[in-house]
Amino acid sequence: MRENGGILGIGMTSARTRERLVDRLRSQGIRSRAVLDRIRNVPRHLFVDEALASRAYEDTALPIGHGQTISQPFVVAKMTEALLKDFEGETVLEIGTGCGYQTAVLSPLVKKIYSVERIPELLRKTKQRLRDLDIYNVQFRPGDGWEGWPKYGPYDGIIVAAAAPVLPEKLLEQLAPGGRLVIPIGPPGYQELTLVTRRGDHFEQVSLGGVSFVPLVPGR
Ligand code: SAH
Repeated sequence: MRENGGILGIGMTSARTRERLVDRLRSQGIRSRAVLDRIRNVPRHLFVDEALASRAYEDTALPIGHGQTISQPFVVAKMTEALLKDFEGETVLEIGTGCGYQTAVLSPLVKKIYSVERIPELLRKTKQRLRDLDIYNVQFRPGDGWEGWPKYGPYDGIIVAAAAPVLPEKLLEQLAPGGRLVIPIGPPGYQELTLVTRRGDHFEQVSLGGVSFVPLVPGR
């Protein structure tokens, strides 16, 4: 894989490499053209360490420091597609900003994102990275995702990039009527990616399949 001049050579981040990833996601059932276009256009190699840039367009999670990972492209695509299907709102609350890849994929597809991350050092780098990519419709907050971000709620969508053993009550409270919450629910190692839709005070749940996320850590 060192053709075209090594790790940061054009071969690793070329249109062809990205198209291969898009083809793979399509063959795995991702249908939304808007989502596939974002996967094609967001430069995922800029969200990982240079040493890992050659692997950025593989469909795999990669380490980003602090014991955290950048999510697998298929899972980001799947979650974004589920969140935005029949989406009529404007605001999305994101829990677990991490390196900001999910944020960048979602950014032009909604009006405003509020994003909460518990590791301030990670958040600092991510803010800069998203500014460098001309992404401005995101407001960030260092904090505990279990609490959500009540100030700007209720949200039309909520997307959670870390695994919770149970549905976080505060997030349900901050979901607008008709709003959609996408979250991995289950123990460490294996979770059900779950889509929750709010109907009044009733919460409909649908499973979207098995995933494995880092845990949604309690507190800061
Ligand atoms: N969204 C990222 C993936 C982030 S991995 C991407 O696109 O690749 C999950 C992130 O959730 C980590 O950065 C971790 O620090 C954060 N996290 C874990 N528990 C949290 C909590 N209770 N509140 C806020 N963020 C949390």
